[in-house]
Amino acid sequence: MATYAYHCAGCGPFEVRRPIGTAEPAEPCAACGEPAPRRYTPPLLARTPAAEARARRAQEASAHEPQVVQRAPAAPKPPPDPRWAGLPRP
Ligand SMILES: [Zn+2]
Repeated sequence: MATYAYHCAGCGPFEVRRPIGTAEPAEPCAACGEPAPRRYTPPLLARTPAAEARARRAQEASAHEPQVVQRAPAAPKPPPDPRWAGLPRP
């Protein structure tokens, strides 16, 4: 069995399960009964989430193009002491 995707102009996308190779170019909509054309989709392909793809690219790049560091990164500047606001200014 395979899942075939169709798109009704009025109701939106819906899916139909049929044996492989038996999909019709149009199916009646499950909600309104109007003929809906088939929407072609790639089989069994899932898109990699953007964050995971970024992490994989960075991991792969670090094996061949590691970032060269000349010195330690600067420590974050501590926030000013709120008690200093009450002190007289020169
Ligand atoms: Zn419909």
